[in-house]
Amino acid sequence: MKYSVLVETYEKIESTTKRTEMTAYLVALLKIVPPDIIDKVIYLTQGKLRPDYEGLEFGLAEKLAMKAVAQAVGTSLKDVAAVVRKFGDLGSAAEHLLAHKRSVSLFDFMGGEMKREPLSVERVYDTLMKIAKAAGEGAQDTKVTLLASLLRDASPKEARYLLRIILGKLRLGVADMTILEALAIAYGSGKGSRAIIERAYNIYPDLGYIAKMLASKGIDGVKQIRITVGVPIMPMLAERLRTPEEILNKLGGKCVVEYKYDGMRIQAHKKGSEVMLFSRRLENVTHYFPDAVELIKRHIKAQEAIVEGECVAVDPDTGELKPFQELMHRRRKYEVKKAMEEYPVSLFLFDALYIDGEDLTLKPYPERREHLSKIVKETERIRLAEYRLVSSPRELEEFFEQAIADGCEGVMCKAITPNAIYQSGVRGFLWIKYKRDYKAELADTVDLVAVGAFWGRGRRAGKYGALLMAAYDPENDVFRTVCKVGSGFTDEELEQLPEMFKPYIIDHKHPRVDSKMEADVWFVPAIVMEITGAEITLSPLHTCAWGSLKEGAGLAIRFPRFLRFRPDKSPEEATTVHEIVELYKSQRKVIAERA
Ligand code: AMP
Repeated sequence: MKYSVLVETYEKIESTTKRTEMTAYLVALLKIVPPDIIDKVIYLTQGKLRPDYEGLEFGLAEKLAMKAVAQAVGTSLKDVAAVVRKFGDLGSAAEHLLAHKRSVSLFDFMGGEMKREPLSVERVYDTLMKIAKAAGEGAQDTKVTLLASLLRDASPKEARYLLRIILGKLRLGVADMTILEALAIAYGSGKGSRAIIERAYNIYPDLGYIAKMLASKGIDGVKQIRITVGVPIMPMLAERLRTPEEILNKLGGKCVVEYKYDGMRIQAHKKGSEVMLFSRRLENVTHYFPDAVELIKRHIKAQEAIVEGECVAVDPDTGELKPFQELMHRRRKYEVKKAMEEYPVSLFLFDALYIDGEDLTLKPYPERREHLSKIVKETERIRLAEYRLVSSPRELEEFFEQAIADGCEGVMCKAITPNAIYQSGVRGFLWIKYKRDYKAELADTVDLVAVGAFWGRGRRAGKYGALLMAAYDPENDVFRTVCKVGSGFTDEELEQLPEMFKPYIIDHKHPRVDSKMEADVWFVPAIVMEITGAEITLSPLHTCAWGSLKEGAGLAIRFPRFLRFRPDKSPEEATTVHEIVELYKSQRKVIAERA
């Protein structure tokens, strides 16, 4: 098949913004493509060679692509650069250069055209594949030579599209869904086939493969497509509602509520001792998480499995969950491994999609979770998401508060009805998220008193990992705990802490200290420190304002950070319990106003 046929279709597609017209052009093309190369045509039309999750890249920077153009038209890199400046992009520049070259001299033109061998789809695809695969020493030269050879035989228009593919800028505007639609029209049989094709795509999101099955074996071939370890599945997504009442109504009066961890979703594929991890957007992220790979390898007791969970960074010194996205944004890709060593991850698993040959996606959620619990050897680092079965708004709200207190963003409410399947690729109401819609820093910093300390682990072994901090309750003249602070200290400050607290160490909890936590080291309340944090939450762990807002709960500062020592303040001048309650209330007011 001639590559020019594809290019003609691309031009038509680009001439319209109407999806129906785009689809019609695609259908016309698909109908004339020989079945054995339909996968190649699909990938090329998407501007790639393989599905994204395989992570294949051309590895040819713009500068090198310019070099290939220069070679193909027999000009200098400088000339090409000048034309690029004029036309704005390399694709158009190449088109212009080739057209110009072939028209300047009739002799050249004739000669050139005679020697030119029209490009076939197969040759284009295979050469591009060679370009992508060239690796090691001399790879760059090989890539340039291969591209130049294609361009020499390309028409000016073909050159434009080839370069756009190479530079990852094809952008015809055809979404995966448009291609699915076109496939269903070209090869399917009526409406029913669209649903079958879409299901196949959700569990095996490789459009080239699906097209090939369809073109060669018909819709029955597509029905045979199965979940495959190593091929990521489109994730199920959650809807959102604003109140526990609405959620329970939607889910039939009862549901499972799970902690919604603030991390990164991971779909783990295990085959023997091989593990692959995919992100929510189906990128292969295996190499970013060597520790998660180990956890899956060692703690999933199945030969083959696909499980899902949230990957959360944990502070090894305090054991606290870290806001993971923050870490990811801060770090550049190449530093991730280092970051992972500093902040190892924990996995909180919440679904099982496939275990030892059995596709579980059409089973109801409680059954999937049951399967999951059977194959996970739980440890502190890898376990099932915290969950509870609830049937009243009050229970749901309570579990939500507990989730927040434990460092989560909120909860996920999941249907437990017989139809509660894993809706791959669908955002529906079988999962409903419930979280706060604000991300406020504490309105003010607080001054707290150190009343105890916890020994550090890992890098902080032999030093304090975190200090137990308390607010002052003037009515009873006691100090009530409100957080454990381990971040914000410089290395020197950390180094100095044990020495600094030495004069205040006692071998039991100080009588003026009210704490539910057992510190490793207790202090006389003496040293005041200024602390900031993300927000104040209800907490079953801290005694500040215990029982005054809610039975069985006090208040805690989430993600506290040390700012500085306040030697100017006596412990009795620290922020009071009452002030913390006021801060909590004003925060709630802000939420109510924003809601
Ligand atoms: P959102 O990103 O706000 O739409 O929320 C959905 C995301 O929450 C999922 O993609 C997961 O990454 C994450 N998540 C955290 N905990 C859970 C859980 N227990 N069940 C499902 N998703 C969870």
